[in-house]
Amino acid sequence: MRVLVAGGGGFIGGHLVERLLGEGHVVRVADQKPLDQWWQVHPAAQNLDRFDLRRLDRCEDVVDGIDHVYNLAADMGGMGFIENNKAACMLSVLINTHLLEAARSAVVSRFFYASSACVYAAQHQTDPNVTALREADAYPAQPEDGYGWEKLFSERMCRHFREDFGLETRVARYHNVYGPNGTWTGGREKAPAAICRKIAEAELTGDTVIEVWGDGNQTRSFMFVDDCVEGTRRLMDSDVLEPINIGSSELVSINQLVDLVADIAGISVTRRHDLSAPQGVRGRNSDNTLIKASLGWEPSIRLREGLTRTFTWVREQVRAESALLVR
Ligand code: NAD
Repeated sequence: MRVLVAGGGGFIGGHLVERLLGEGHVVRVADQKPLDQWWQVHPAAQNLDRFDLRRLDRCEDVVDGIDHVYNLAADMGGMGFIENNKAACMLSVLINTHLLEAARSAVVSRFFYASSACVYAAQHQTDPNVTALREADAYPAQPEDGYGWEKLFSERMCRHFREDFGLETRVARYHNVYGPNGTWTGGREKAPAAICRKIAEAELTGDTVIEVWGDGNQTRSFMFVDDCVEGTRRLMDSDVLEPINIGSSELVSINQLVDLVADIAGISVTRRHDLSAPQGVRGRNSDNTLIKASLGWEPSIRLREGLTRTFTWVREQVRAESALLVR
């Protein structure tokens, strides 16, 4: 297969490219960022940097000769970013719309879109003791403002391109993905990477007071990136037409997440809660009934195992940065 990974300079895209190359595909990667800012650069792929896929002409160039498109390109980040950059998040609608248009013209045979659990209606996510979210819970629509609306709209664009134009589309609703080689500092990082960073810094400096956003009782599930890539590949090769959850169902509170990382690091920390910081919905988990029934598989990497690998990587970054500052 000749495969395009849009947004492949990013976190999940970088891991997906590695997997696709390992499977023997010919892989083209396009990303808006300059190459030296990509999380992973795989020399065996064709790497196109500074490629703004909001532009239709760039999308047309990049899908030329391609069989399968994976669209993971989006202007996004953790809660701190998406709550304060709603217009930027919604402008990613141009990426998916133009990629779909270009893929249709180029007669691409299959198109994957990375949607998000942020499409789910807020009224199902008010209690930390959650009922896990089923795919049907996205409607009646009341998604996360900005980012979630863009995802929900783009999901439907995929559906209608399939129904009206015969472009085979597959849509995953990812639930909180974490792992090495992703954003860990700078304002776009998500909770697992941010907590790993704060605990690695505490270990380094001896200041063991950790700032936690909200009261820490909000609950989430977190999926290790290897499971995300596995689920993405299985979905792409399947005949599942409707959007499907790809997420872990191992629920934890943010306080438990902090305790787990501290335990992995082997230090004790004191939490200082910032109640004014963005914290998103009160509780969210992935109902995996549909993915188990349709793919015979669900994410299974335990949080402790994934966090151990993530913490080890984030700690290396923190130490490397601190060594640079000292020099
Ligand atoms: P990421 O930010 O690491 O990767 C996204 C990449 O898209 C970045 O490298 C960015 O430079 C690129 N990009 C942004 N605008 C672009 C443009 N105009 N043209 C070309 N490239 C552009 O994010 P990620 O965590 O790897 O997420 C990948 C996809 O999965 C995104 O669509 C995201 O919304 C979705 N998703 C991620 C999570 C998660 O927890 N990481 C959860 C749900 C959904």
